[in-house]
Amino acid sequence: MLNLTNVQIVYDNTIEAVREASLTVGKGRIVALLGSNGAGKSTTLKGISGVLYPEDGEIKGGQITFENRQLTGLAPDEIVRAGVVMVPEGRRLFDQLTVEENLVMGGYTRSLSDARRQMERVYGLFPRLVQKRSTVSGYLSGGEQQMVAIGRALMSSPKLLMLDEPTLGLAPQVSEEIFEIITRLCRQEGMGILLVEQNAQMALAIADYGYIMENGRVVLDGEADKLLRNDDVREFYLGFGEGGSRKNMRDVKHYKRRKRWLS
Ligand code: ATP
Repeated sequence: MLNLTNVQIVYDNTIEAVREASLTVGKGRIVALLGSNGAGKSTTLKGISGVLYPEDGEIKGGQITFENRQLTGLAPDEIVRAGVVMVPEGRRLFDQLTVEENLVMGGYTRSLSDARRQMERVYGLFPRLVQKRSTVSGYLSGGEQQMVAIGRALMSSPKLLMLDEPTLGLAPQVSEEIFEIITRLCRQEGMGILLVEQNAQMALAIADYGYIMENGRVVLDGEADKLLRNDDVREFYLGFGEGGSRKNMRDVKHYKRRKRWLS
């Protein structure tokens, strides 16, 4: 479904935030994109969504395709119409608007009748939002705001949903609720999910496959259960290491870069 091949993204013509990154998300698959702060995860999602230009970011090399269609160069709304939608970090709701008005904004690419159908579907997925439909979203809890942000993205009926740190700042129980919904969207509706998360343990627990980025590069990838058992991943991202200090993956002697996309 989604394929990135050797993608390079540069800010201000100077800062290379993503270097030769390649990844794939198939239909009905949950793919986790992990890595420490500044690794290039958000930039990758913005590149796929076509929203780099306000930050002077540009895709300088490689290819991004969705269902064999080139996404690079398309306007953000065309990418949404193609079926690829991002829930940005920090939710970015219209705080002054009600829950329902936020959802309406997410349905801008759909016909009125379709938007109505999608809204009922969103309320079905997040029953908690039904009684809050007239509440100004700025007054909601963090978890409820995240549900509205996901709901707003679902209004355009995406085939691929990308989420940038959806559980950031949320209590564990609320995070679990969000992860359950993500899993349901994938397993029941066949949606592809690209999930950027700081919480590697939780992300890999629901993911089928994972990629780990460092300094703009994909340095490791594999089936999620294998990554969960990988000693380096356990030490650097899951906090199971000895000695305390967080090393860089590149420093590990046994670490081998695996370029699956070249094989
Ligand atoms: P985080 O978890 O902190 O969001 P990340 O993995 O998502 O990290 P990015 O936000 O994609 O990383 O940042 C990748 C690199 O690009 C970093 O070095 C960052 O400083 C740089 N960068 C990000 N946004 C911009 C921007 N608008 N202008 C210039 N450099 C940027």
